[in-house]
Amino acid sequence: MTTVYIISAPSGSGKSTLVNEVRQIVPGLDFSVSYTTREHRGSEQNGREYYFVSRPEFEAMIAEDEFLEYASVFGNYYGTARRFLREAEQNGRDLLLDIDVQGAAQIKSKLPGAVSIFILPPDRKTLEKRLRGRSSDSDRVIETRLATATREIENYEKYDYILVNDRLEESVETLKAILLVERQQRTGSSEDAAMSARVESCRLRNVRQQLQPILASFQPATAPGGR
Ligand code: ADP
Ligand code: 5GP
Repeated sequence: MTTVYIISAPSGSGKSTLVNEVRQIVPGLDFSVSYTTREHRGSEQNGREYYFVSRPEFEAMIAEDEFLEYASVFGNYYGTARRFLREAEQNGRDLLLDIDVQGAAQIKSKLPGAVSIFILPPDRKTLEKRLRGRSSDSDRVIETRLATATREIENYEKYDYILVNDRLEESVETLKAILLVERQQRTGSSEDAAMSARVESCRLRNVRQQLQPILASFQPATAPGGR
């Protein structure tokens, strides 16, 4: 049976970096390449990071009911084609979706067994630094992404796991562990105790305390002397 993993994160948290890493080390995992109407950036290639299509092309796909889910993000359409799930099921593989909060909610309602993972930056300052360091967006776009992040982060409670992407190598290990332990649980194969402990540590109910300072860093500072 195909397990669907959903990964969401505020833009700049390091989601693409993590996804690219785990795709190389977790066997039996397909990646759903989304369709989008946004411009391609940097070294992105059509068919690798995304299928870049025009708005009329995307709307024709909506009309043909070709999407498992789709949403408008930062003024552009993004969508997951149904065929990726069909193909993964036919080939006995698991499927990884890198989608936003709106898409994650649509998938969870259609596929309640999907495993959802929310990636967070260690704090707002780090997120801003990563967005600027990527140097692919203008200041205006970065401001929009930061403001959106503040709203998106509030959705963390809708996810099964929360992964704080601080040290990259640690985060890759944790993401890998979530994918493998969930797979072991579904196939009834024996679990690796060390990996299970790592996975438990980022289950929603176990991270609430740890998240408070991160969430607070996204709230506007109170003016000195203010109430
Ligand atoms: P997203 O896909 O979430 O928008 P990216 O994967 O493009 O984010 O990462 C944003 C930037 O942060 C990139 O320049 C990436 O190299 C860097 N980055 C990702 N994870 C880490 C990390 N753990 N530590 C430091 N830099 C990171
Ligand atoms: P970016 O433009 O930075 O690549 O992606 C912007 C946002 O769109 C990210 O939050 C990403 O997860 C989301 N996204 C990418 N593909 C899809 C998709 O197919 N569906 C939905 N709903 N969101 C997507």
